[in-house]
Amino acid sequence: MKKDITLSSFETEDGYTGTVELACECPICGTTLVPEVLSSVSLNETTESDDEYENKAFLINYCSKCDECFLSRHIYNSRKDIYSFHSSAPVKSNNQYFSENIQKLSPDFVSVYNDSLCAEKSGLLSICGMGYRKSLEFLIKDYALYLNPSEKERIIKSTLSSCINQFIKDERLRTLATASTWIGNDETHYVKKHPDYGIEDQKIFINAFVTFIDSELAYFQAKDLTSISRN
Ligand SMILES: [Zn+2]
Repeated sequence: MKKDITLSSFETEDGYTGTVELACECPICGTTLVPEVLSSVSLNETTESDDEYENKAFLINYCSKCDECFLSRHIYNSRKDIYSFHSSAPVKSNNQYFSENIQKLSPDFVSVYNDSLCAEKSGLLSICGMGYRKSLEFLIKDYALYLNPSEKERIIKSTLSSCINQFIKDERLRTLATASTWIGNDETHYVKKHPDYGIEDQKIFINAFVTFIDSELAYFQAKDLTSISRN
């Protein structure tokens, strides 16, 4: 997206309006966005030939999805009279984005899942399955705690499988949780009981589980709202 914004010249400190092609994705959370520009500065830099100048702009952008700021770099294109988008930083978009509800429900799940994803993308395939298994344990226990706040002690002390059996009532959720736990256990133990399934299946099951919980949390919110309206 192009936008006319006020750029402050680094050399002269004068302000002027320039057309800038904004970043279309947050490099931190990977969300597609139109960023809110918090600050912008342009500077002229001598190129290698020493007799030409490269005019650049740097923007500080705010992403409302992850509540973080990132820097973007734009190069002036004199033919089009626009600062074309070049790059943005810091790049952390290896992370998978989870909804605000999931982030609130289980921040440890989000953190451990993304650590595992990072391990997987770094080629550490022998350990990421264990990480996904650990992330799932946080998600299931935090979800069970959310549904049964008075059972805190039992939930914390229970094994993952007994937590699933005792506290997850929905059959579909229980199946997804059990299947991803089994694959996770295979990734942890010496002998694989389900050799036809691997990390990709485990991630599919975990993400389906997340989608179910997400819609259930949205349903609870809607239920709260409608019960307030009725009163
Ligand atoms: Zn973001």
